[in-house]
Amino acid sequence: MTGSVKTKIDAFFLTNSQGSMESYQHVMNQAMETLKSAVLANAPFSGASPQLVKEGLEAQFPEFLPEAAGSPREVFHKLSSAVADHAVSVHHPLCAAHLHCPPMLPGLAAEVLISGLNLSMDSWDQSGAATMVEQMVMDGLCRLFGLYEGDGVMTSGGTQSNLMGLLLARERAALKLWNWDIKKQGLPVEHHLLKILCSDAAHFSVQQAASVLGLGEEAVIPVKTDAAHRMCMNDLEEKLKQLKKEGKVPFALIATAGTTDFGAIDPLEKMSQAAKQYDLWFHVDAAYGGGLMMSDQHKHKLKGIDEADSITVDFHKMFYQPISCGAFLVNDRSSFSYMKRHADYLNPEEDDEEEVPNLVGKSLQTTRRFDALKPFLSFQLISRSDWSEIIRRTLSLAKDAYKMLEHDSSFTVMHKPELSTVVFRYTGDGMLTEDAVNLLNYRIRDRLLANGEAVIARTKVKGHACLKFTLLNPLAEAEDLSKLIQRIKEIGQNEWRRLQNEEGRS
Ligand SMILES: *Cc1c(COP(=O)(O)O)cnc(C)c1O
Repeated sequence: MTGSVKTKIDAFFLTNSQGSMESYQHVMNQAMETLKSAVLANAPFSGASPQLVKEGLEAQFPEFLPEAAGSPREVFHKLSSAVADHAVSVHHPLCAAHLHCPPMLPGLAAEVLISGLNLSMDSWDQSGAATMVEQMVMDGLCRLFGLYEGDGVMTSGGTQSNLMGLLLARERAALKLWNWDIKKQGLPVEHHLLKILCSDAAHFSVQQAASVLGLGEEAVIPVKTDAAHRMCMNDLEEKLKQLKKEGKVPFALIATAGTTDFGAIDPLEKMSQAAKQYDLWFHVDAAYGGGLMMSDQHKHKLKGIDEADSITVDFHKMFYQPISCGAFLVNDRSSFSYMKRHADYLNPEEDDEEEVPNLVGKSLQTTRRFDALKPFLSFQLISRSDWSEIIRRTLSLAKDAYKMLEHDSSFTVMHKPELSTVVFRYTGDGMLTEDAVNLLNYRIRDRLLANGEAVIARTKVKGHACLKFTLLNPLAEAEDLSKLIQRIKEIGQNEWRRLQNEEGRS
């Protein structure tokens, strides 16, 4: 390679040369400017339609693989106008649709190191100290959740963590019941008997996991929820007895600590007792509610979680870390042996004898990001009392929204918030038909999005269309929500008029 070509290529990589360092700073500054301009735009969304966004993107970037490279200044400028300006802004207080948080600054700083160091968590010889950081985070997290003999691993999020919980539960059940090693032998003939119980408000990733694990979605038996949207213990008891009577083999019980719509927390203590009585693996999906552990005021709501065999925790929800960042914890660290395998090139058995820490044996992933650095840095840089305050504010915002909606006769609120969601319907003057209410609520959400005024969610409760605030921004103010609620009313009234006109015409 000639000197000048090497110098040029040098500028595309992070090396110890001065040219590389300058290029790095330059490109990172450009990225930061793009980010800042998007945040400064100060709107939850541009309101652009999918088609408009697509056209804008194609106009700025007509070629997928252009012959000639663009300058960073020019390319980032195009990126600003075509992408960042039309990105949903999680930084905005009125971006309140999903369990999708504004990321904390320590997490963002960690991301710079995670990608720059570009370590991989599968083996010690691809990570070095990063493995120790992840292990420290897992050990600390286990203590935080009361799993004193526990262990854990970082995951891409709740979906993967739930899959892992059910995977371990399935392996354990087959070994214990039929002395059958699914990892080696595949599913046993009796597999169609295996059943998983969770509430009818559990996350859909439970069904997905059952399907991926070869048990099929119908292996998931939904248990009824009570008036507060928590698992109904009587129905659980009934379902378990019925299954036993039919000769079925229930093997896992899943509690949700923070359901997606209502933020309801299943009765963890009672469920753990039922799990012991029926010899079920007890998994707690705390993807949403896990963040309560950071609040002395609220953590009592998770009482009983320390009895879980495994726990799903999502750092990219109520721990405010950039996506993706999840964890899977087990109460008994030897549980990971159900899934461990060895690769001669990566984690040979000899390494185990020499106690070389290769985390790949605990994960469904091979190459894996150093995401543990995000919570690690955030815990170091933010005090416990500030964490508590962040959780307190997030939850109290939901209470505020609840009160405002409760006091307004144009709305029906579907529940008292347990965490930070509020599910409600615009019901106008109370004289509207059910069909009209359903339509109006969907239109309100669509209008807010298309106007770029607010990003809120829609959902259905027993077939009734509802709106939902998912509040994960501790900096949002009651005032922001009060204005939004007024706007929802205005839009509801306008859309009602429009609907009447449409009907008049047809
Ligand atoms: C978000 C969520 C999941 C899925 O987690 P991802 O991180 O999106 O994969 C699972 N369960 C619950 C209760 C959730 O809130």
